[in-house]
Amino acid sequence: MRIEQDMKLDFKDVLIRPKRSTLTSRSEVDISRDYVFLHSKRKYQGIPIIASNMDATGTFDMARALAAHQLSVALHKYYDEAELLAFFAEPSGSSASFYSMGITLPDYEKFRRVKEQAGDKIEYVCVDVANGYTKALVGFIQKLRSAYPDITLMAGNVVTGEMTEELILDGVDIVKVGIGPGSVCTTRRVSGVGYPQLSAIIECADAAHGLHGLICADGGCTSPGDLAKAFGAGADFVMLGGMLAGHDECGSDIVEQDGMLKMRFYGMSSREAMEKYAGGVADYRAAEGKDVLLDYRGPVENTVQEILGGVRSACTYVGARKLKELSKRTTFIRVTQQLNEVFGSN
Ligand code: 5GP
Repeated sequence: MRIEQDMKLDFKDVLIRPKRSTLTSRSEVDISRDYVFLHSKRKYQGIPIIASNMDATGTFDMARALAAHQLSVALHKYYDEAELLAFFAEPSGSSASFYSMGITLPDYEKFRRVKEQAGDKIEYVCVDVANGYTKALVGFIQKLRSAYPDITLMAGNVVTGEMTEELILDGVDIVKVGIGPGSVCTTRRVSGVGYPQLSAIIECADAAHGLHGLICADGGCTSPGDLAKAFGAGADFVMLGGMLAGHDECGSDIVEQDGMLKMRFYGMSSREAMEKYAGGVADYRAAEGKDVLLDYRGPVENTVQEILGGVRSACTYVGARKLKELSKRTTFIRVTQQLNEVFGSN
């Protein structure tokens, strides 16, 4: 047994210190990014925010709504082949839609068939497992990369530098970072495993950038300021579940509770999801997600404007004319949780 004594931080433990700036308005800030991916060599231009591949947020409707703002979606993996083919045949907007899959043989075979027919329309692929530290994930990535050299591959989830490097060397373009921070995730409580998300982003971004790879910070953002902190910490993309849930584009039923309109949102490893998609929770495992009712928030459009406005505002406060400059101009100050709550309400 060993105890690491280094301080590890979450979003709530820091604020971004303001810096002198010549910017006069948020409208001067450009929050899009340009990337050339390490392995696929493909180019990306857009606002690097991705709706999570959860069944509420990784929907076709979400993809269409977010594309209007140059944001992306990682589609959930429960669409059937015909649905996926129809979606990828649509004239694409300017944003990237990720085809998502797990690492089983049926996942691979389904992807192979869809990709064969959709061809270059599927450029972006997200391979997603709760625990990215397994040999099985590494083997799967190597197989996928050698079969499809020109797909842009995002994979995870991991939280440490050495596993980020491993995945990038195996062929991953964007490493997905986050174990335990999700809004409907109970992994930390159920298993005791996890890593404070801000530190995970800082450490994994450093490892990835050293190899010219990228990372996507996945989970734990509860306000636009958290996205600013994630980008400030070095995230190249940020993935959102809960912040984009509760909207029309999620396709969930609207229910009434105490006179308020609500929408159901559950973790993809929750009992609810396993009952829906896998016929129940296998007797050797525990659910690691929960089921919540969120306030119904109408179309996602307003939320997107709020998020983009918050990130632009952060850039203005530190004098970053472009999102690219935000991490270079970020100095975090550590705050007590209580202080952060006071600042957070202003
Ligand atoms: P959020 O933005 O809601 O804080 O986090 C979204 C992320 O939580 C997802 O992209 C995914 O990585 C993670 N997640 C979703 N469902 C579950 C679950 O049931 N269990 C765990 N451990 N993580 C989940």
